[in-house]
Amino acid sequence: MADTATCDLCGADLLGAPVRYRAEVRIWAAYDVMELSPADLRRDLAGEIADCLKRLRSADPAESTAAIAEIRRFDLCDACRRKWRAELPEGEKEDLTKPCAG
Ligand SMILES: [Zn+2]
Repeated sequence: MADTATCDLCGADLLGAPVRYRAEVRIWAAYDVMELSPADLRRDLAGEIADCLKRLRSADPAESTAAIAEIRRFDLCDACRRKWRAELPEGEKEDLTKPCAG
């Protein structure tokens, strides 16, 4: 279990800090919408599945799981939050200033 009393980046004490932050990163394999073509229907799917299973038998389970989906959480002090945020790519943002629907 993660230690929530200290900043995961700099080790600063967070319990006495006026504000502390939790960051969560979700990474998952993204796929495009499947479109089947006549060529797809001629593929050796049983062979492809057998090859995949063969690769998985020798793969590292933790790395294989992380390659599909991973969630990581961090406790941060304000200084590290600012530094980390500045290094993030722009990406898509959710507008948290709008009232919740309901
Ligand atoms: Zn910090």
